[in-house]
Amino acid sequence: VIVRYRGRFAPSPTGPLHFGSLVAAVGSYLQARALGGRWLVRIEDLDPPREVPGAADEILRTLETYGLQWDETVVYQSQRHDRYQAVLDDFYQRGLTYHCQCSRARIQTLGGFYDGHCRSLALPAAQSSVRLRMCDPVYGFDDQRLGHIQVPAALAEEDFILKRRDGLFAYNLAVVIDDADSGVTEVVRGADLIEPTVRQIALYRLLGRNEPSWLHLPLALQADGRKLSKQNHAPALSQRQISQTLWQALFFLGQ
Ligand code: GLU
Ligand code: ZN
Repeated sequence: VIVRYRGRFAPSPTGPLHFGSLVAAVGSYLQARALGGRWLVRIEDLDPPREVPGAADEILRTLETYGLQWDETVVYQSQRHDRYQAVLDDFYQRGLTYHCQCSRARIQTLGGFYDGHCRSLALPAAQSSVRLRMCDPVYGFDDQRLGHIQVPAALAEEDFILKRRDGLFAYNLAVVIDDADSGVTEVVRGADLIEPTVRQIALYRLLGRNEPSWLHLPLALQADGRKLSKQNHAPALSQRQISQTLWQALFFLGQ
């Protein structure tokens, strides 16, 4: 069976696209086009307090302005809560998750990684986060650009959060369910997401779904060496110097 390439770009609507997000969009778009595949767009509106009203529409308009046309209906994570909860219910039935009521302060004192304190306490769902009982950690993976990547054992082995205490679904859970359900065959995204990849692979295995291949692009940095990001107030993409900005993104990607 020949599975046609399916790639995607998955921005969070926390502000307008900046040069760093354009690099991820162009990189994933070109990979899909070069391989005769499809390119999907998903809006990761999972965290309402961090969202900027109008940002999702602005991102889609900017992609169109830059000639990055997607092939299928845009998926919004805010529309998929029932699906995420169904997976969590299934995991809970299978004994793969547990409820945790530890404070962020307690986990800080552990050095940042959770110690499984609540694993066997059988705490109720109310006022709890949902954690994965990590039985089969994934310590590394093969990246199409970077080769074999190994992550610290403490990160790989952590019982990471699938649903926050405030009821928000975690990025790792949603991104895996969505990419699996969309039939994504390769994830092309920024190198800031290398570490969570091992957690995502662990979830693919628990879901019984084939993992995609992975390709992490270099991160565009600010002049001071920090990542270009919305938190660092990276400037929005120009709506006028389109071809010049695209050329810069291609140059950055070594094309
Ligand atoms: N929504 C994530 C972000 O904007 C990207 C998720 C992904 O590509 O896996 O950083
Ligand atoms: Zn706990």
